[in-house]
Amino acid sequence: MNNFHVFHAGVNFRSYPFKEINILSNPIENASDDLLENTKRMIKTIKATNVILDSGGNTIFNREQKGKETTCDKAMPIISDKGKINLTPHHVIEIARKLKPTAVVALDNPLQKKKNVLEKEMEFKKKLEINIAWAKETVKMGEKDCPEVSVLVPIQASSFEQMETFLEALSGLKISGVSLPIRNMGPRALVLFLTRLQQLQISWVHVLGTTCFTNMAIAAFFARQGLFEVVSMDAMTWKESAKFSGYLSPHNLCSHKINNETVIEASIENDCNCRYCKNVSFESIKEALYQERMLALCCHNSWVTESVAGELYRNAGTLDQLANFMNHKSPKERKSPEAIDAIYAAEEMKDQNIRKLQLLLE
Ligand SMILES: [Zn+2]
Repeated sequence: MNNFHVFHAGVNFRSYPFKEINILSNPIENASDDLLENTKRMIKTIKATNVILDSGGNTIFNREQKGKETTCDKAMPIISDKGKINLTPHHVIEIARKLKPTAVVALDNPLQKKKNVLEKEMEFKKKLEINIAWAKETVKMGEKDCPEVSVLVPIQASSFEQMETFLEALSGLKISGVSLPIRNMGPRALVLFLTRLQQLQISWVHVLGTTCFTNMAIAAFFARQGLFEVVSMDAMTWKESAKFSGYLSPHNLCSHKINNETVIEASIENDCNCRYCKNVSFESIKEALYQERMLALCCHNSWVTESVAGELYRNAGTLDQLANFMNHKSPKERKSPEAIDAIYAAEEMKDQNIRKLQLLLE
């Protein structure tokens, strides 16, 4: 899995899954020198293989949803005494310069989920100027202050047309790669976006969003076929699921809740081969105290996330092989046939004008 990587988000000293993993770090977690030193110690302890420093855009996104403002003042610290948050490309690059991650995501102002096409268009237009300005500023500052760190530009677009507008506005800017948020994006759109990015010879695509089986299969195929130098994905479900006693299937990452109220048939065995599940039955997971169960599930969930990514990659040598594998591992997954059909179309039309594929997939 040389060019397909999973980056675990939400990793900290209390709940890191296992060593020698890739991690995604948030600038807010590194807001002060003390916090930054803590992250450095954690990276050393975990022996993290690669590190992506996230943009902080997710913090802006969450605050906006709650009606909270995030200021943008280069002269002010990220977190003020009164708990206010302040972010600029300068802050993100300053942390990247000290943390020395593999890559840093340029600062962005993510698009909120909107109900209809008109509202989506208004949201995109409202934030386009600031997103382009921050992307350009982060890339230029990165080149000057930490040239060894790749800068990934987040594509804040909710449709293919918007992505075209976004990339057009960035033309002339030398970028190492992009981060592609896929909240609410279906498999057909993901295939279309990736095909366009491949045509534009983007070398690294970081897929940001829900780590589901189908999206992971699509990303694995693009990586395995060498259509990008690097394809990476975020993984947060390992921890989010564990918090709610969710056990991710080692076959297809479906989450199954196991707590003291769950009824488990005696015939159902835990067939996971991870080191945390050795001689562990579903019954013993059920009977464990919450904290013990949560930590064990964090380890299991993150291990199976890596394992499923690796299996998808190994089985993505051809599209037929991938289709068979997906059908075998997740026969009830409704989106799998859609993903396979979309990849098939993209393979046929990848060297043609992208509008033809867009007509087919949108
Ligand atoms: Zn396991």
